[in-house]
Amino acid sequence: MSKIYILGAGLSGIYSKLENRNAILIDKSDFITLSTRLIYIIRGEDKSYVYKKRNIDINEEVKDINFDKKMIITGNNNYSYDRLIIALGHRQNADKLRGSEFLYKLETVDDVLKIVESSKNAKNINIIGGGYLGVELAGIFKNKHVNLIESNNRLLSGSNEKSSNYVCNLLKNNNVNIILNSRVSEVKENSVIIGNNEIKSDLTIYSGGISGNSLINNLKIKSIGSRIVVDKYLKSVDYDDVYACGDSMTMDNSIPMTAEIARESGKTAMKNAMGNEIEFNYALRNIINVADNYILINNNSFIKGFAVKVIKNHVKKNMEDSLRKLNSE
Ligand SMILES: Cc1cc2nc3c(=O)[nH]c(=O)nc-3n(C[C@H](O)[C@H](O)[C@H](O)COP(=O)(O)OP(=O)(O)OC[C@H]3O[C@@H](n4cnc5c(N)ncnc54)[C@H](O)[C@@H]3O)c2cc1C
Repeated sequence: MSKIYILGAGLSGIYSKLENRNAILIDKSDFITLSTRLIYIIRGEDKSYVYKKRNIDINEEVKDINFDKKMIITGNNNYSYDRLIIALGHRQNADKLRGSEFLYKLETVDDVLKIVESSKNAKNINIIGGGYLGVELAGIFKNKHVNLIESNNRLLSGSNEKSSNYVCNLLKNNNVNIILNSRVSEVKENSVIIGNNEIKSDLTIYSGGISGNSLINNLKIKSIGSRIVVDKYLKSVDYDDVYACGDSMTMDNSIPMTAEIARESGKTAMKNAMGNEIEFNYALRNIINVADNYILINNNSFIKGFAVKVIKNHVKKNMEDSLRKLNSE
C-alpha cells in the first residue's frame, strides 16, 4: 500500500483524511482553528466554538519538502512519502502596507480577542477590504462609526453585481459608511491615510491580503501567491506524486479560497492520490452573514432568508460530524 501523507489538518486536510484513514496526517497544532467561525467570537461566541481539539497522527511543524527525494522535513524528523497532499492553508499578509503594525488581523483566536477588547472603547472603526470578510465585519459593530474601505468600485468585487448591491444597501441601512475606489496608503496609530485625507481610526481591521501559506513560496514547486499550481486533477504541474487542496492550490490564480472548495478539493485530492482520475470542478458559493442577514451568494445571483440559515446549519452539522468521526479513531 502506498504511503500517503497529508500536510495540514485544517478543513481540506480533515476531509482528505476522512477519505482514507490509512493516510498520515501531520499538523503543527493538535487544535484546529475554524477560520469561518472566527468572526463569531466578535458576535459573542466562546473560543471553544472556533478552536477545537482534533486527532492527528504527527504533531510537528513542516519546515521543508524535498520533492526529488520524496521527503518531508519537520523540525524533528524526516518522513519519506509515496504520495503527498499539501493542505497548509493561508496567511494574511499586510507587509506591503505602511504602518501594518497598527492593523488588527484575523488569523487566530488571539487576533479576534484583541479586536473584541479594542472595539469596546473605539468610536471610529475602519475596515480595509470589502470582500466577504470585510462586509461581514462591517455589519457587526453597533453604535460605532464604521468605515468600510474598498479599492474597487463595488463591494464583493469577486462576486456578481446583484449581491454587491444588496449587501451595500444592507450595510448603508446599518449606518456603515462605504468608501469605494479608495486605497489606504498608510495606517497610523489613530488614523488611516487615503490620498490627501486622514480619517480618524481607533481600531483599523485588515480584511484583505489573504494568500497561501508562505512556506509554499520557498518550496521548489510552481506556485502563484504561495498556492501550488495544480492541474484539473489537483496534481502539481511539476510532480506526479504531489497533490494540493484548499487554500494551498490554484489552477490559474482564479480559484476562490472558500470552505466549500477546501472540503471538496480535500476529498478529490485524496481520491486521486489513491489512483483515481477525477476532475475537480468547483462552484463559487458562499454563505455570509451581513448585519444579521444570512445570504447565499453563488455565481450569478444570491438567495436570502430562512432557507439560507437552514443550509448554514446543515454545513455546520456536517463539520461537527466530520470532527467527531476524525476523533473517533
Ligand atoms: C477570518 C476568515 C474567515 C473566513 N470565513 C469564511 C466563510 O465565512 N466562508 C467560507 O467559505 N470561507 C471562509 N474563509 C476561508 C476558509 O476558512 C478557508 O478557505 C479554509 O479554511 C481553507 O482550508 P485549508 O484546509 O486550505 O486551510 P486551513 O483550514 O487554514 O488549515 C491549514 C492547516 O495547516 C496547518 N499548518 C500550517 N502551516 C503548517 C506547517 N508548517 N506545518 C504543519 N502544519 C501547518 C495549520 O495548523 C492548519 O491546521 C475564511 C477565512 C478567514 C481567514
